[in-house]
Amino acid sequence: MNELIACPHCDLLTRRTPLPPGRKALCPRCGALLYRCRRRGIETALALSCSGLILLLIANLAPLLALQKGGMSQEVILWSGVALFVGRGEWLLALLIFVTLILLPLLRLGALLYVLFPLYYRQQLPYAAQIYRLNYAASPWSMLEIFLLGGLVSVVKLGEMAVIIPGIAAYAFVALILITAWADYALEPHDVWMRLRREVAG
Ligand SMILES: [Zn+2]
Repeated sequence: MNELIACPHCDLLTRRTPLPPGRKALCPRCGALLYRCRRRGIETALALSCSGLILLLIANLAPLLALQKGGMSQEVILWSGVALFVGRGEWLLALLIFVTLILLPLLRLGALLYVLFPLYYRQQLPYAAQIYRLNYAASPWSMLEIFLLGGLVSVVKLGEMAVIIPGIAAYAFVALILITAWADYALEPHDVWMRLRREVAG
């Protein structure tokens, strides 16, 4: 635990010391936040990731939206939306929606569960550290932007065809965005590193 940490604000080097849960360490020179020890961060992120997976399932299987045109109404689920664009020959759009709304959220939640679930039981699966590093590197490119990108493009494209009424899956996506942001906040990356390293050493 005795490693040096640089202040992100003024670059002052201080020695890292263990903190009681819920406390944070501030830079002695400029007062910037150095790191914090979140209360039950891994447990919280784990619970949120599980809920996220259920929400993603709902988002994929429940009606995403209803299209209304000339008194007719048609419900569209995410997958049928992808199929719709494939059918119209808009491969790039279909691919964008598939990757941003299905594949990437699944990969990110899957990666978190893969790392955190064994860690909760003081275990570690192969490549957990690499997978966590990859997931962490991808996190500035957060799910919010990813969802918005895929969602906006499809809504604009579908809007050319008909009036759109959001369905259950659309609300599930909104909840998923909030839950993912919460999980990111609950997790202190340094905590995860320390625990991963400890499980390797022990
Ligand atoms: Zn400082």
